[in-house]
Amino acid sequence: MPKRLLVVGSGTAGLMVANLVARALESQIQHHEVEVTVLGERDDYIYQPGFLYVAFDLMDPRSLVRPVRDLLHPRVRFVHDRAERVDAASNTVVTQGGVNLPYDYLVLAIGSRIRPEDVPGLAQEAHWFYTLEGAEKLREALKGLQGGRVAISVGIPHKCPVAPVEFTLMLDAWARTRGLRDALEITYTYPVARAHTIPAVAAFAEAEFERRAIKVETFFNMESVDTEAHVLHSQEGTDVAFDLLVTVPPHGGDALGGASGLAGAGNWYPTDRQLLQVQGHENIFAVGDTTDLPVSKAGSVAHFESEVVADNLVGLLSEGRRPGHTYAGRAFCFIETSLEEATYISFDFQHPPVVPTPSRSIHFFKQTYNQIHWANLKAVI
Ligand SMILES: Cc1cc2nc3c(=O)[nH]c(=O)nc-3n(C[C@H](O)[C@H](O)[C@H](O)COP(=O)(O)OP(=O)(O)OC[C@H]3O[C@@H](n4cnc5c(N)ncnc54)[C@H](O)[C@@H]3O)c2cc1C
Repeated sequence: MPKRLLVVGSGTAGLMVANLVARALESQIQHHEVEVTVLGERDDYIYQPGFLYVAFDLMDPRSLVRPVRDLLHPRVRFVHDRAERVDAASNTVVTQGGVNLPYDYLVLAIGSRIRPEDVPGLAQEAHWFYTLEGAEKLREALKGLQGGRVAISVGIPHKCPVAPVEFTLMLDAWARTRGLRDALEITYTYPVARAHTIPAVAAFAEAEFERRAIKVETFFNMESVDTEAHVLHSQEGTDVAFDLLVTVPPHGGDALGGASGLAGAGNWYPTDRQLLQVQGHENIFAVGDTTDLPVSKAGSVAHFESEVVADNLVGLLSEGRRPGHTYAGRAFCFIETSLEEATYISFDFQHPPVVPTPSRSIHFFKQTYNQIHWANLKAVI
């Protein structure tokens, strides 16, 4: 009987874990000692960081999408279906299509979802660049923009911690290149006492926003949108009037966690911060956005966590070795600061980030990463 690894989710973390394990245990898979299966509700993979560029018509949406099968190691089985429930007592995942998938080890890599519906009026009135369709719609709205009040409202938690700052700075630069900037009033709203949860990013963003005459409203937790008057209300009692509303909606985890009794508030999985096991379940791991860890929900985090979990799974599947590799909270995010320059943050549980001076070369590295990401997913670099 082969040892069975089941990975739920065919996004960044799911593909990386499956490919890393398959590459390391290719011969065991070939000899039916190990079986690696990915269960994904989508059979295409979408490179989400590209949405930012789609909104400004800087990237072709078609270049962001590839079939999952093309990104998976040939010895990984792919099941295109949705996980409806995890039965941890019998080590089985039940799918929407009615299939029972048994496992010895389970990896939950089911990401996060935007929840604009949590704020009354937001889904009807706002644009966002957090889905491909949303980014394409926003691109069309920006094409028609002649001037007026643009509000960028941020809900937390959300994935890619720096994306709202990037969008705001890129919007400023984009408007300048079109001779539109003087006709725009840009306001950025953020839920806590500063412009970002990470202090170094907040200090950087606040200085840039001031230099570029971008207004900031802190302590602004979205409560509702008046879709007739075009006003965004906060729980704190403040209002922002807009002609164009761009939001980063609050996020939540997939319903699978709640349906299985495994996830906590927000449908995030309570996860051990070092071994990334779901608490109380030694054979279930959570990787990427789906955890409740105090780390950014970012592709880089999914990447670094996947390496740790894959190393531990290789030991477990091949020799029954107890997990020994640990995650130290590593994260890395590029920050686009205009259409030509970027900076970055790099940090872990022990070392907070600093923000280097933006440069053209960092922007170039980011553009390069957008291309090599595919090889990263396949675990070939
Ligand atoms: C606009 C934008 C910009 C970004 N920019 C960056 C950036 O510059 N740098 C960076 O590091 N990160 C960035 N990110 C974040 C990054 O894309 C995510 O953090 C990363 O994709 C998380 O990987 P994941 O595997 O946890 O989730 P995902 O890649 O979202 O994959 C989750 C997968 O699970 C599937 N799934 C969910 N539920 C089920 C179920 N019940 N059954 C089966 N399948 C299921 C989903 O369909 C999806 O395919 C950005 C994101 C956005 C939206």
